[in-house]
Amino acid sequence: MQVTPTHGGNTTKSVDAKRPETVSGIDGTPSRLERNGSKNLQTTLANPIHCQGIALHSGVTVDLILSPATANTGVRFQRSDVEGSPSFPARYDHIIDTRLSTVAASDSDPSLRVATIEHLMAALNACEIDNILISVSGPELPVLDGASDAFVFLIRCAGRQILDTPRQVIEILRNVRVEGENGAFAELRPAQRGLSLAISLSFPAQAIGNQRYAMQLDEQRFMEEVAFCRTFVNRQDIEYLQSIGLARGGSLDNAVVVDGENILNPAGLKIEREFARHKLLDAIGDLYCAGHRMQAGFIGHKSGHTLNNKLLRKVFSDSANWCFVPLAPSRSVTKTLRARVAA
Ligand SMILES: [Zn+2]
Repeated sequence: MQVTPTHGGNTTKSVDAKRPETVSGIDGTPSRLERNGSKNLQTTLANPIHCQGIALHSGVTVDLILSPATANTGVRFQRSDVEGSPSFPARYDHIIDTRLSTVAASDSDPSLRVATIEHLMAALNACEIDNILISVSGPELPVLDGASDAFVFLIRCAGRQILDTPRQVIEILRNVRVEGENGAFAELRPAQRGLSLAISLSFPAQAIGNQRYAMQLDEQRFMEEVAFCRTFVNRQDIEYLQSIGLARGGSLDNAVVVDGENILNPAGLKIEREFARHKLLDAIGDLYCAGHRMQAGFIGHKSGHTLNNKLLRKVFSDSANWCFVPLAPSRSVTKTLRARVAA
């Protein structure tokens, strides 16, 4: 592993994101700060961190820098290859494409886009990072391991800092459902605590077939059950995508490739139901585009990025669907914050 502190106190670490490392604070053991702190406070990274990786579709090498941000910044992207470009939020109303991956863009200049954000968003959701600036030198994030493990590794290397501002969590107040073709749907329901998810899928390829996976989101379960579960693709689909110049960075190192009843990766699957677990990982990432963590139950059947984004847009189209979990007795504070997110 290469970890290179550079300029004094506020250093940027460069890492080989493929190698695991445990860093205090986000490895399941509370750090000194967190033992004395609260789950109700916002967080950011303790230090900036840098890595390089291959973009899935263009196949080019991109630089990724994750940097700390102040309270109430949220998750924001910036294109470092476009001089002077403004940052923009990784929020549901800035998602402009969901066909191959979740793509966020600036509303002032849609050419400032960042694709394949969902695996990093899932890592940020699971690691409870509220505020971060994500700077990338191209229109796609690096695909790294095709899952969230490598992003969690980066976050753990950077460390997590607790801020002194209360965290606002979105509570879903009533069932909200969107439907797609062939019986596909995605739904959010009220829940007593945290975010629970249940995913079911059905694919004609016998290697996938019908699968279901359900989980309550917490960092440890995320790491043990889904973070390492790779994206997957049919052999015919990846051949087609590569014929039209896409998926150039896709390989057996960062995707499970399925051909009928066969899995073409020599080592096979990493775990049973890896496909459903990856879909659940995607949903964890896409739902973090709500702009805040969520208290809800999510149910997805044959769902994907498109339905996940439609679901968030439907939730926030009616203020009766949601509220902030009250952290303070003052209703006026909650109302002010509601306006900020809905804007
Ligand atoms: Zn994915």
